[in-house]
Amino acid sequence: MTESALLRVEGLTKRFGDRLAVDGISFSLQRGELVGLLGPNGAGKTTTISMIAGLIRPTAGRIFLLGRPLEEDRTTLRRVGLMPEVPSFYPYLNARQNLEVMARVYGADPGEIDGLLETVGLAEHAGRPFRTYSQGMRQMLSLANALLGDPELLLLDEPTNGLDPLGQQRVHQLLRDLVARGKTVLLSSHLLRDVQELCQRVMIIHRGKLIEDSPIERLLRPGELRVLVRTVADERAFILLSGPARPEWISSVDRHDDHLEVRLSPEHLPELSAFLVQHGLYLRELRPLEGDLVTAFFQLTSGTR
Ligand code: ATP
Repeated sequence: MTESALLRVEGLTKRFGDRLAVDGISFSLQRGELVGLLGPNGAGKTTTISMIAGLIRPTAGRIFLLGRPLEEDRTTLRRVGLMPEVPSFYPYLNARQNLEVMARVYGADPGEIDGLLETVGLAEHAGRPFRTYSQGMRQMLSLANALLGDPELLLLDEPTNGLDPLGQQRVHQLLRDLVARGKTVLLSSHLLRDVQELCQRVMIIHRGKLIEDSPIERLLRPGELRVLVRTVADERAFILLSGPARPEWISSVDRHDDHLEVRLSPEHLPELSAFLVQHGLYLRELRPLEGDLVTAFFQLTSGTR
């Protein structure tokens, strides 16, 4: 059987002493996917990424890179670029020298280095020692390092951590370009907006378990629509929508200072306006509220799941 997934993990588990950091995670990444890996602090994101990058050995489970089991064939790791959560470079070497060392270690072509420094916006600082770099510059060097050798799969652990908005935009654009060239990216982030902007698919890890793996659309619109409603008489509208005459397709109504927030199934939206108007409650405003990944994320991770 030929394997179509670039990366497949099955029942991936890591135990540190009696702490279960990663608990039986399974998923696949297809070529050209940009997938977000979200989870609160200590959820197991870094441990998962480190196992895939071959830095730590799983307690149980298997990793297949390019269809080959990692425990039998580590040469596939050459096709993987890692940007770790905390980059570490030689403090007294400059950016170019650091990348030259890495290129030698990983067997990459040092001829790529100038182009990479340009790509990440470090060309003009390439001669300065690493220890003089700001956090954002350190992150960018780490990204250049991950891109050495033109890898197929990029594992990025909090890549925009500490970057200013311009740096964040640069990273976003770079990731979009990479995916357009058929590269595959697994992106761990706390910046939920990052993921919302970049990824079509999101996985959520909570207490070592993969509790969600869905297209971002589904997370943003989990079957229910939130609608902002302002009428000529909100108090009366609230009583109507929350009282015994409430249509069964309305799940809940909340009263705010200058509007109501109604939750309902999306197909009933046209009926909501008709229902209000029938009762003399003419509309000043009615609009769906944006689905919000931040809310979806906290709903998922604050429960007992
Ligand atoms: P963060 O967002 O804070 O970086 P994370 O989701 O990346 O968190 P991990 O760093 O993977 O989480 O940690 C998962 C769990 O494993 C945590 O409880 C952590 O304390 C524990 N852990 C991680 N590395 C080790 C280690 N080397 N020895 C012992 N426990 C560890």
